[in-house]
Amino acid sequence: MKYFIVTYGCQMNWADSEKIAAVLEDTEYKPASKIEDADLIVVNMCSVRQSAVDRVMGLKEKIKNKKTIITGCVLKKDWLKLEKQFGKIIDIKEFIKKAKGNYFKKITSYVPIMTGCNNFCAYCVVPYTRGREISRPVKEIICEIKNLVKTGAKEIWLLGQNVNNYKHNTPPPSSPSKREISLTPPPPRRGRRGEGVDFPELLKIVNDIPGGFWIRFTSPHPKDFSDELINTMAKCEKLGEYLNLPVQAGDNQILKKMNRGYTVSQYEKLVKEIRAKIPNIALSTDVIVGFPGERKKQFENTAKLFRKIKYDMAYINKYSPRAGTVAAKMKDNVSPKEKIRRAKILNEIIMQTALENNKKCIGKTFEVLITAPNIGKTRSNKTIKINNDIPVGKFVNVKITDALVWGLKGELKNEQQTYSNSGADGFGENGFVNKTRQKI
Ligand code: SF4
Repeated sequence: MKYFIVTYGCQMNWADSEKIAAVLEDTEYKPASKIEDADLIVVNMCSVRQSAVDRVMGLKEKIKNKKTIITGCVLKKDWLKLEKQFGKIIDIKEFIKKAKGNYFKKITSYVPIMTGCNNFCAYCVVPYTRGREISRPVKEIICEIKNLVKTGAKEIWLLGQNVNNYKHNTPPPSSPSKREISLTPPPPRRGRRGEGVDFPELLKIVNDIPGGFWIRFTSPHPKDFSDELINTMAKCEKLGEYLNLPVQAGDNQILKKMNRGYTVSQYEKLVKEIRAKIPNIALSTDVIVGFPGERKKQFENTAKLFRKIKYDMAYINKYSPRAGTVAAKMKDNVSPKEKIRRAKILNEIIMQTALENNKKCIGKTFEVLITAPNIGKTRSNKTIKINNDIPVGKFVNVKITDALVWGLKGELKNEQQTYSNSGADGFGENGFVNKTRQKI
């Protein structure tokens, strides 16, 4: 019997699909290389940008007459409709509970450390599809990471919808009705909260796991970014100098309507503090253009913020309503044409700032993880093209020779680098080619 998994959405969903595969392979199922060869199709849904129903409709022909399981981010209201037409729906939490371990040997591995979200941003379905925040026990996370490192993982992403709100033994969250749009956001939480292991502590514990690997995390919420987290990030030498810090809008009124819980100046202050402690950290962001009621002037404030922050990358989304959310009840009054225009403006700014940032790397040498033939990644998550044939999974020092908008070009710092025989996978005694943080 063969299975095929169709995955939509974010890294969290891709990580969950690996768990689904682990559960299936514990039974009689083996992977199929294409959907047509499978007896069982698992569709791991994402309802964030499109309704689950629309997405599965696109697959209708391929999954017709096959045993189908639908899981992932599915709004309760869609369950019945989907079950009637396509087959069984299984809550993703059931798969996660059953998965004994991880999955396949991979250079880059994703480890969900928490799931769900308590924030109820006005446009987002995650709290409705994934439920409230639940943090995984520290022991379980550490055991999983140790196994991944043992099987060759070199880059571990800690995942969570609100990753920096990780806390094992988190007290029960408040009900959704109390968390809907608040017109005056409370000041961002910047300190420690109660007992238990929180995100900075978890980072320290992961950083202390022996072995040569990098740590990254996504996605943090700006309002939950504590001073302690910044200090911890600066001290964890395995943590790459890269951060995705979703801003969503650069206008206070729009941020209020989105229920984001911070103002533009609070966000800017946070970026300043992060850059002061971790100079040259590469920053990316998520932004929505054309949120209901967003006027041209308000969009201009977002463009202004983009020019000021000089991000390295941005995920630019054109707003569209998600059923069941607070924003879906607002008038979607920015025309599709205008949304495209606004997205284009932000894209042009990013292309300019990313290139400027990348140009500053020329002539410098960085530690690079080889992720594919002739391709690597810097600690700051920049893609780099290298004209040397280096085995995948090795860490090498690379001198940057050229900068592009979306990446870098480079050559081995020293052709004689003993990347293949300087201890385990090119690491020195202490686990790293170079213990000193290299910052782009
Ligand atoms: S923080 Fe907001 S955007 Fe992110 S998952 Fe939670 S509700 Fe959605």
